[in-house]
Amino acid sequence: MSDRDHPEHNAPETGPALRVKALEALLVEKGLVDPAALDAIVEQYEYRVGPRLGARVVARAWLDAEFRVRLLNDAVSAIGELGIPSGPEGEHLMVVENTPDAHNLIVCTLCSCYPWPVLGLPPAWYKSFAYRSRAVADPRGVLREFGVELAPDVEIRVWDSSAELRYMVLPMRPDGTENLNEEQLAALVTRDAMIGTGVVRYPAQTARRAAE
Ligand code: FE
Repeated sequence: MSDRDHPEHNAPETGPALRVKALEALLVEKGLVDPAALDAIVEQYEYRVGPRLGARVVARAWLDAEFRVRLLNDAVSAIGELGIPSGPEGEHLMVVENTPDAHNLIVCTLCSCYPWPVLGLPPAWYKSFAYRSRAVADPRGVLREFGVELAPDVEIRVWDSSAELRYMVLPMRPDGTENLNEEQLAALVTRDAMIGTGVVRYPAQTARRAAE
């Protein structure tokens, strides 16, 4: 998913985003930071450190029914069992489970609250005004733009994150994965599937994982 595919997710940059850009430009101009190094750090947190932890949690829940129950009842302690610290933005985390009848979608309508300890940094579109407003007003339309077409009778539940409570989606395990081990299953789980703007596919559609 890239913002180039979804220009409507690009809100004009104002306030903090603009100030950060200006600061970055100044630091680069003064030779204090290397923009490629900055990109590498962001990439690391967006795609490697963050979402991979969430993916491990999902794969474990798919394989271990008792862990899944603990995860849905008390996400923080279940995630702690895997040695993943809850961290400063994850003390109050709730995991919501997709089923054939209900699909969950996560947003922060006020700003950009996001379950950092399991998903890393939020993607740019998650923070955009377009996503924050439309995820509530027209979740089915938003999902369609992300390539997720749900049957009309599937209920969409939108969860509004806050500083007090963050959410992560437990996506449905795709058919045909019965013989995969935990590591192989985790490799299928995308960040977007844990936000609810994607579903887990098998074989994995790696082409959809594009930079923002
Ligand atoms: Fe927020």
